[in-house]
Amino acid sequence: MKQLLVFAVITLLFCGGCLPVGRNQITQTSTIDALLAGVYDGQMTCGELLKYGDFGIGTFDRLDGEMIVYRSKVYQIKSDGKVYLPAGATKTPFATVCDFKPDTEFSLKSTDYKTVQAIINEKFPNQNLFAAIEIIGKFRHIKVRSVPAQNKPYPPLAQAAEKQSVFEMNNVSGVIVGFRTPQFVKGINVPGCHFHFLSDDRIQGGHILDFELTEGLCKVDMCNKFLLILPKNDSLKNIDLSQDKSAELHKVEQGN
Ligand code: ZN
Repeated sequence: MKQLLVFAVITLLFCGGCLPVGRNQITQTSTIDALLAGVYDGQMTCGELLKYGDFGIGTFDRLDGEMIVYRSKVYQIKSDGKVYLPAGATKTPFATVCDFKPDTEFSLKSTDYKTVQAIINEKFPNQNLFAAIEIIGKFRHIKVRSVPAQNKPYPPLAQAAEKQSVFEMNNVSGVIVGFRTPQFVKGINVPGCHFHFLSDDRIQGGHILDFELTEGLCKVDMCNKFLLILPKNDSLKNIDLSQDKSAELHKVEQGN
């Protein structure tokens, strides 16, 4: 009994900051095709989301800006280009998080978004696994966007994204947070790389459209578990999720 107690105390001591999810697990709320179809009502609070990970990206209730979860804090970059700290009760209709524990890190020198994706694919050729990716760097140029909050009846994402605000920054330091997601999750998440940016001074950021990196450190956590949490209410009841929306998604992600 005494031994058991000692074991419990030791476990508690070493696991004080642990999340209830296992290592290498990606957790996601709702699906990208539901978001494309205009399901923008928040399903999970930011407080609850943090139980599934300290790192990730997503959006907010009513599509109110871009989300970055970084070092257990949730940041909201609204379409005014400013960064907010939403309350724990603020909800998200779509987010992807993990307990970020990088397996590998490597430095990057003078490169761009396209090349960074190629480097990641070369270093981590198993594209049928999820990769959580952090890039801490100095950027010569970075182009991001954010979308404004929508009102009911919600338009599809492609239409909402037409009202996006685009911001360009020069010589800025910050962090990229995102995922490389397998092609087979088409319809569920964004296949390939999907990155958001947050500046070091925490006053700028957004969904990345393009960047040129001066130098940076890239950290990668390969993940082989995937938990999908669908809304329990009727928000998906009358949504047709049987169509291939790849072309629509590509347009929305690239911002053109
Ligand atoms: Zn995004």
